[in-house]
Amino acid sequence: MEYRRLGKSGLKVSALSFGSWLTFGKQIGNNTAEKLMGYAYDNGINFFDNAEIYAQGKSEIVMGRIIKKMKWDRTSFVVSSKAFFGDHRKGPNQTGLSRKHLVEACNNALKRLQVDYLDLYFCHRPDKETPIEEVVWTMNHLIQQGKILYWGTSEWSAQEIMEAHMVAKDYRLIGPTMEQPQYNMFERKKMEVEYSQIFKNIGMGTTTWSPLASGVLTDKYLRKNFPKGTRLGMDGLEWLKDAALQDERIPKVHALNEFAKELGISLPRMAVAWALKNPNVSTVILGASKLAQLKENLKALGDVSLLTPEVMERIEGILANKPVAPMF
Ligand code: NDP
Repeated sequence: MEYRRLGKSGLKVSALSFGSWLTFGKQIGNNTAEKLMGYAYDNGINFFDNAEIYAQGKSEIVMGRIIKKMKWDRTSFVVSSKAFFGDHRKGPNQTGLSRKHLVEACNNALKRLQVDYLDLYFCHRPDKETPIEEVVWTMNHLIQQGKILYWGTSEWSAQEIMEAHMVAKDYRLIGPTMEQPQYNMFERKKMEVEYSQIFKNIGMGTTTWSPLASGVLTDKYLRKNFPKGTRLGMDGLEWLKDAALQDERIPKVHALNEFAKELGISLPRMAVAWALKNPNVSTVILGASKLAQLKENLKALGDVSLLTPEVMERIEGILANKPVAPMF
């Protein structure tokens, strides 16, 4: 495993990490969750990602039980939670980024995960109804209390992130260390254009999500019949199927799949390696519903060297979606 610094912080995260969205407490049984986490840890993954909303709090409960059962040394892993969407409760103060919700969501995550502190704590989305000063002061306070070690954002705009840094600087508080954006061959703008100045000027870390665009960057949706037992076939996830499985993506996936075969690897390996190649990525968070998938995706670490400038150019030619910086 390779370990990368989380931005300019002193924390080191494994270049590949593991998350529980839609799987733990929902799509997969607890035994499978345990096997996946165990395999990840045994293979050097040191960061496990979670959120209050995942399976409405159940994902954290499942992960907490596994952490406890495994008796891993607490200094050997990094665990996160994210607040904003609420768990199963959706009252006026049970979502958002108010001081009340950030503090209560943190306390709930600590209980569910059965840990004394969260290594990483994210604002899962920006909240237009809470002043940024309130968010920064609250996160700083949670750090002072020892309940969290680093705080970050998820899917915030560059401007929102910079506002948080300006407030932190003004009041001499601790600003956000990392952002958690989607990053894959189809979603590139934030990582490749929008955040460029923040990477340069602040040294922001990133824990990127959905490297396979929810499984689209594999060969399974190229098959004649819609594959059974997959995320995009799950009841209630029609919105995700529409967002991830856009018609225009299919010919590109087909061409990428052929090219991956030519390189002697699978498309998911190529897609994960492609994300890892971006130097502004601190860690690529993997998701898996089966052990075989995790085993396959972990091989991507050794595939980054296959992505030579010529190979990257051919991928670029297939994708034809390179984001361009706006002209000022
Ligand atoms: P991916 O895009 O990699 O999707 C993972 C899913 O793709 C798996 O559950 C599986 O679904 C399928 N898959 C994975 N590997 C393979 C393979 N080798 N062959 C075939 N199918 C495969 O990542 P996620 O969308 O799960 O995101 C990863 C993590 O990022 C999440 O767990 C979460 O921690 C975080 N995240 C954060 C968000 C945020 O807003 N901050 C939003 C979303 C995720 P199946 O078998 O069911 O088809």
